[in-house]
Amino acid sequence: MRDPVEEIATALAAHGLILRGGFNFGDDETAPAVGSAALARSALLVGQAGAAPWPHFQRWLERQARGIANPLDSWSREVIGAVAKEFGARAVSPSDRPYLPFQQWAMRAEGLKPSPLGILMHPRYGLWHAYRGALLFEDEISLPQAHEAIHLCDTCVEKPCLKSCPVDAYSAQDFAHEACLDHVRGPRGSPCKTGGCLDRNACPYGTSYRYPRDVQAFHMAAFAGL
Ligand code: SF4
Ligand code: SF4
Repeated sequence: MRDPVEEIATALAAHGLILRGGFNFGDDETAPAVGSAALARSALLVGQAGAAPWPHFQRWLERQARGIANPLDSWSREVIGAVAKEFGARAVSPSDRPYLPFQQWAMRAEGLKPSPLGILMHPRYGLWHAYRGALLFEDEISLPQAHEAIHLCDTCVEKPCLKSCPVDAYSAQDFAHEACLDHVRGPRGSPCKTGGCLDRNACPYGTSYRYPRDVQAFHMAAFAGL
């Protein structure tokens, strides 16, 4: 009999998605609900490496009404929701309200740490990956132990990701959200609008997974409300 985790991975791969590790909730923590009464015992994170889901999402988008709101979120919910149903799980999304602690879950599942940009740094994908949802299970599932991944930022002396933004929106302390938005929406924002965040693109790791320019432009338009 095939391992159910492998079967879930196969179902997700049909949409360009991958499993991003998982973990079991401890007895002493308050896990999210799975059904009307049961709390989750296990979680599997679902996401992407590079822009692999993009062609699948584009084909889906062609079948939708023009100008639908939050299309990537809707696509992710539809696809991951269908996989959850097939495998008796509850699908949750990073955009659910109240917010679920996706970043903490992701760090726990794959042993990653945040980069100076806040995005988790992956030893292979660099900054070019994302989390699109999670599958929650009522029963504990057998998972490989997550190992702490090498954190490339620790040995990155130059940190070009903190030196490429025209308005220095990122610093070691915080992110100047309004300054970034003003720049992207303003007359000199074209490089960010058309090719993505210059700081993110400056990171030398995971470049073979870098999102193509049209994908970065899509995300930037969603971020800046363009
Ligand atoms: S440029 Fe260096 S510090 Fe910045 S995200 Fe990449 S590895 Fe980390
Ligand atoms: S999107 Fe542009 S303005 Fe915003 S942080 Fe990145 S480089 Fe700076």
